[in-house]
Amino acid sequence: MLHHNKIQAQNSIINKFNHLAENIAQGNTIQHHSDELKDFNNYFVDPNYNAFSIDAAVKSNGLLFTLLYIYHKSGWSQSLPEVPMDAFKNLAYKLQTVYRNNPYHNQVHGADVCQMIYTAVNNMGLREMSKLNEIEIFTTIISGAAHDIDHPGTNNVFEIKCKSKLALLYNDQSVLENHHTASFFFLVDNTSNNCDIMQYLTAE
Ligand SMILES: [Zn+2]
Repeated sequence: MLHHNKIQAQNSIINKFNHLAENIAQGNTIQHHSDELKDFNNYFVDPNYNAFSIDAAVKSNGLLFTLLYIYHKSGWSQSLPEVPMDAFKNLAYKLQTVYRNNPYHNQVHGADVCQMIYTAVNNMGLREMSKLNEIEIFTTIISGAAHDIDHPGTNNVFEIKCKSKLALLYNDQSVLENHHTASFFFLVDNTSNNCDIMQYLTAE
């Protein structure tokens, strides 16, 4: 019964949330004290948070939505004014599209990892323990969002055994990890993507 109630509560939060999600996805400012936002803030850090339900609620824009929500919730437009909202939004969208549609390593997995990092940092004491500053938290979330981009759905052993192009390119060394990282830097380096957040950060 308790479980059933929990599912009902979860569904009603997700339904209420559609409107909020649309606003966030369009980059509109959100009312920080609205009831629906308060409910969602609690749900986002709940151990029962379901990245798949949220992805369905935002019409398969789970990663885009999760990144924009974290941006708003963390107040990065104020605390990190050097990172323009437009570049961040473009990056979030590009990262989402670069994930392939495979059964596990897809954009919902990227969104799930971001939500876990956010919760660990803000609700499980990681911020205090690690003494990360805001820009370090920002880059940790971006790393989480990007960590499996363009994943082919195989593993390193498979890539090496079938002498794939990626295995040849990376000389059998951490093939997929190198590929995710290189894909990220190619993506931000491509000026037509207009998402090079790196140019706004100092070398430090
Ligand atoms: Zn992963």
